[in-house]
Amino acid sequence: MENRDAELVNKILSLKREKKAVILAHNYQLGEVQDIADFVGDSLGLSQNAATTNARVIVFCGVHFMAETASILCPDKIVLLPDMNAGCPMADMITAKRLRERKKELPNATVVCYINSSAEVKAESDICCTSANAVKVVAGLNRDEIIFVPDQYLGHYVQTKTGKKMHLWPGFCPTHIRIRPEHITQLKQEYPQAKVVVHPECRTEVIALADEVLSTGGMCRYARQEEVTEVIVGTEIGIIHRLKKENPGKKFIPVSEQAVCPNMKLITQEKVLWSLEAMAPEVRVPEQTRLKAKAAVDRMLRVV
Ligand code: SF4
Repeated sequence: MENRDAELVNKILSLKREKKAVILAHNYQLGEVQDIADFVGDSLGLSQNAATTNARVIVFCGVHFMAETASILCPDKIVLLPDMNAGCPMADMITAKRLRERKKELPNATVVCYINSSAEVKAESDICCTSANAVKVVAGLNRDEIIFVPDQYLGHYVQTKTGKKMHLWPGFCPTHIRIRPEHITQLKQEYPQAKVVVHPECRTEVIALADEVLSTGGMCRYARQEEVTEVIVGTEIGIIHRLKKENPGKKFIPVSEQAVCPNMKLITQEKVLWSLEAMAPEVRVPEQTRLKAKAAVDRMLRVV
C-alpha cells in the first residue's frame, strides 16, 4: 500500500471509530472499498447486518435502494450513501404509481418485490425478496397468483422453480443483460473443467447454461468448497476481487469484462472519507412510507 493510500485508510478508520460508524459494502463495490468495509455481502446479508448492528452510523457502500433499506430497518441510525448519484437503473424501471395501477388490474395477486426497488415500491408490496431467497419466499406464499417486480429475469427463474402463476414486470439489470450465452459457450471450451455460476438477474438463455444459479453471497459460499477450483462467474465483475481474496490459488474467470455496474463504481475511499467527515449525504425514508415498506422487508426477514 502506498503512503498516500495508507494515510487515507487510517483517516477513515479513525473517523469511523470516532463517529461509531460501521461500513457496509456490496460485493460489486471497488476492491479498495471492499477492503475497508466491516462487512461485505449481498443484499440479504447487508440487510440482516444493518438490522442488527449496534453502530450509530451506517456508511452504505452500494446503491441508493440499499441505503434506503438500511434506513427502513434502522430509523434511529444515520445512514450515509457516499455518492447520492449511485442509483440502480433496474429499481428506476418501476414506480409506486404504476404498481398501484397493476394491482388494480390484478386485485387477487400477491405483490413480491425484489429488494432492488425504491422504498415507495416496497411500501406497495406484500413481501420483499432478494436473489438469495426469492425462490423460498415465493414458494412459501399461500397464494398462487403473484405480481413480481421489477426484474423479469429473476421472476422468470423463480417461476420455473416454484410453478406459481407470476405476472412479471418487464424490468431488467442493464449490467447483467450484457452477459450473453455465447460468452459462456466459448469459455467452457477454453476451461472445460470449470464450473459455471451465474446470477439470476442474467438472461434466461444464460441461466440455462449454468451449473449453479446463485446470489453473490451464494457464489462466495460455493467457491469455498474444496472440490471447486475453477469457476466461470456470470455476474458483475466486482465480485472477482472478493472471490480471489478469499480463495487464493483458485481460478475465477468473469464471463464478461463488460459486466460492470457504473453506479456501484461511484463509491471510492475518498468519498467514504468525505462522507464520514461531513456526515452526509444522508438517506432517510419518510415515516409513513418507511412503516409500510418495513412490513414487506420484515416479512422477508422472517422467512430467512
Ligand atoms: S448491478 Fe444491476 S441491479 Fe445491481 S445496482 Fe447495478 S444496475 Fe442495479
